[in-house]
Amino acid sequence: MRRRRPLRLTISVWLVVLVAIGLLLWAGLPDEKQPATTSGGELLVAVLDVGQADSIFVRSPSGRTMLVDAGNERKDVEGVILPYLQRRGVSSLDYLVLTHPDQDHVGGMPALIDSLSVSTFVDPVHPDETNQAYLQTLQRVQRKGIKAVKARRGQTEIDLGADTPVQLLAPEDPLLNDDRSFNNANSIVLRIRFGSVGVLLTGDIEETTEDRLLGHHDDLHSQILKVPHHGSRYSSTPAFLDAVQPEVALVSAGEGNSYGHPHSQTLERFDQRGIELFRTDQQGTIEVVSDGQQYKITTAKKGG
Ligand SMILES: [Zn+2]
Repeated sequence: MRRRRPLRLTISVWLVVLVAIGLLLWAGLPDEKQPATTSGGELLVAVLDVGQADSIFVRSPSGRTMLVDAGNERKDVEGVILPYLQRRGVSSLDYLVLTHPDQDHVGGMPALIDSLSVSTFVDPVHPDETNQAYLQTLQRVQRKGIKAVKARRGQTEIDLGADTPVQLLAPEDPLLNDDRSFNNANSIVLRIRFGSVGVLLTGDIEETTEDRLLGHHDDLHSQILKVPHHGSRYSSTPAFLDAVQPEVALVSAGEGNSYGHPHSQTLERFDQRGIELFRTDQQGTIEVVSDGQQYKITTAKKGG
């Protein structure tokens, strides 16, 4: 017995080593079904699958949290946004940003504010706005004592930590009088930077706003572009794309939506530039995780 024991030990050791190698190989393989993991020190940007609407969650490397838009309605909040935040262990938001008071961005906001605590509400403040969900949002912000900040280019500070500067690039006064949509044209545009990685969140801006941003000669370069206006053909103009130089385009759109978003002409512009496309209508929620140098993208469904 005593002589056989070392042999058994050796076999056990080899088995452990082989299993360990197998596990390492398996863990190293990209798997789109695996949720992206963030330990501390990473930037997370998630374009949530709220159908033909927008809701984007951001967690900075220092753990600060921001939600940009809140979907169409209560159902999006209860069925998608809150369950996602719960899975991420998020029970409060440092910032709640409304890009513009259209239903597919503001609709879920009253229900959201009822469900978790928010420190600061970033408001585009468009005059004469009558959307009911927007008015209810403003009432709740006031009632709950949430700090409200008017969003204007160069005047609004969003603090996600020193290592993650956020620039608020639009809207600016005087607000744009766009023939197609006043609200879309005066959406909040944010550029988030972490190390050498840039993320551009564009609400529903179209050509007029893109042109205005280009006129400022801002450094728009961002590897990650949340595609403006759900992939409308009136947005993502060639000049804008050439300034942003995105490597990946994230589209938030509803399956079979009546607008035909994202538009084939827009997709062609991405294709011509070798920009990789991700879309919530086919792949579900899209998560980007970055260490400030590289980034990894995972999607809830394979799709595409
Ligand atoms: Zn929209």
